Amino acid sequence: MTAIGQTTDKGDTAGDISSHVAEQLVHLARLVHGGSSDQCLTPAQWTALRYFARANRFSRTPSAFSEFHATTRGTASQTVKSLIALGFLERHANKSDGRSALIEVTPAGHEKLKDDPLSALTRAIALLPADERGRFATVVSVLASTMARSRTAPIFGNCGECGHCDTTGGGPAYCRCTQSLLNQDDMSALCVDFLPAPPNLR
Ligand code: SF4
Repeated sequence: MTAIGQTTDKGDTAGDISSHVAEQLVHLARLVHGGSSDQCLTPAQWTALRYFARANRFSRTPSAFSEFHATTRGTASQTVKSLIALGFLERHANKSDGRSALIEVTPAGHEKLKDDPLSALTRAIALLPADERGRFATVVSVLASTMARSRTAPIFGNCGECGHCDTTGGGPAYCRCTQSLLNQDDMSALCVDFLPAPPNLR
C-alpha cells in the first residue's frame, strides 16, 4: 500500500493518484445523468425513486431517505412529495411507527425505473471480468464505509452482511435490531439500520 505523500514506481504520489481517482468518480456520477436522454426527473428524484424501490420495510421513510441521500429532512421530503405528485410514489400508514409514513413505489414508478439512467453504468460494470468486478465492489464498499464514518452518516447495506442478522435458528433469519423475522426480499434490500458484520462472520 502506498501512503499519501509516498511516491510510486511511476513517480506519482499516492495523493496525486487518489485525487485523480476521486475526481473520476465524481465525473462518472455526473455522466450518469448528464448524458441521459430522459431528463424529466432530476438526479435527486431518480435517487429517491431507486432508493424506495430497493429499501426494506424498515427504511422506506422520508427520514431514512434523507440519511441515504445525505440531505436535510426538508429537502428529502420535498423530493418525495414531487414524486408523489407525479404518481411514481405513494404514501401509506406506517404500522410500526405512527409518526412516520411508509413510502411505496407505484406501478408507474416501477415502469419509470425501466428508463433509469443508472442502467448504462450498471451495464458497464457488468462487462468487467468477474474478478475485477468483485474487487471493485469491495473497494467501493470500503470507500463508502470510510466516507460514512467520517461524516458520521449511517452505512447502508443488506441483511446478508449485517451484524444484527442472526441465522443460527435454522429457520428464517432474525433481525436483532428490529426484532423481526426476515423474509427473502428483506435479505437483499437496503437498510438504514445496517451494521457491518466483522469480516470473520460474513
Ligand atoms: S439484519 Fe441488519 S440489514 Fe437486516 S433488517 Fe436488521 S438491521 Fe437491517
